[in-house]
Amino acid sequence: MTISEPIKITKTNLSKRDSVDFDNIPLGRVFTDHMFICDFNNGQWNNPRVEPLGMIPTHPAAMALHYGQAIFEGMKATTDKDGTPLLFRPAKNAQRLNFSAQRMGMPEFPEDLFVEGLKELVKIESHWIPKKDGSALYLRPFMYADEPFIGMRAATSFKFIIIASPAGPFFSKRIRLYAEKKYIRAAEGGTGEAKAAGNYAAAIRPTEIAKAKGYDQVLWLDAHEHKYIQEVGTMNIFFKIDGKFVTPKRDGAILDGVTRDSVITLLKHMNYSVEERPVTLSEIRNASQDGTLEEAFGTGTAVGIAYIQEIGTSEETIHVSDESPVGLEINNRLNAIKSGKSEDHFNWMLKVE
Ligand code: PMP
Repeated sequence: MTISEPIKITKTNLSKRDSVDFDNIPLGRVFTDHMFICDFNNGQWNNPRVEPLGMIPTHPAAMALHYGQAIFEGMKATTDKDGTPLLFRPAKNAQRLNFSAQRMGMPEFPEDLFVEGLKELVKIESHWIPKKDGSALYLRPFMYADEPFIGMRAATSFKFIIIASPAGPFFSKRIRLYAEKKYIRAAEGGTGEAKAAGNYAAAIRPTEIAKAKGYDQVLWLDAHEHKYIQEVGTMNIFFKIDGKFVTPKRDGAILDGVTRDSVITLLKHMNYSVEERPVTLSEIRNASQDGTLEEAFGTGTAVGIAYIQEIGTSEETIHVSDESPVGLEINNRLNAIKSGKSEDHFNWMLKVE
């Protein structure tokens, strides 16, 4: 599906940009001056526009509020050394949004308009992209059912919106994970491979419990046996065992991370073997005990690479490692590509000009 209407642009003359302390940006709380919006009704997307960021009046019967037809994406814009804004693999996010849309009974959003909308918004907000190494303009495309209707069926009207929020440099500390055996995030056949809002709602309480126990994130295990590792918090997970990398295979319950895919490519480029296969918690315990577990890290847009120190369960503590040299190298390579400081061998960066 494509859309022929041009994107209509209405700019604000009241920028908040100068009131923001770019040396100290509170994460997820500051939003730029504009947003991209497009409406879906009568079976099609129409009226794509960039307008001043503002409230979105919503009917109390809007179906997303009741039945949860709501999906989102997360990605970042950076700048190259000349200050030109760059997007990292935006087509991957467009495709994943449409995968989520299909799973949740929502309309697909035209991929070319997704990328055009991002480009228009980022062009207008380019002065909001933080310049410090490791910082970026976080972009949040999302879609929700805004049809006022009480009743269980797919909605017929939706909104697709992109908002943007500057994010300061993220210093990854080593994290401790709690392997959750009571609550689960996703099961095969469920919605785990979709970036559906409800997945995150269901993860909030277990995450709070893990934090109350002194851990940083939940290590999600499979729904049937609580034996296979799925992912960590809002990240995919990689282990280095005896010189080789292994990451849980996509089985329908794991999110298809853009960073996961990029890290697999980078590791292979560095001549590491990467296996995508089922990984059990007991394999990790055994590798820790026999000294072959060399490192482990989470991968995701928000933090890049998060180094894992330890995994706890209700019965035991599995020590992972105190250092992640390959994880660090991967993080540096990813950041260098995203800031245009190293060659874009894989054609991942899209210039916004
Ligand atoms: N898993 C989950 C559950 C997530 O929310 C995210 C963040 N989108 C990821 C993995 C990592 O995906 P990506 O690398 O595309 O950010």
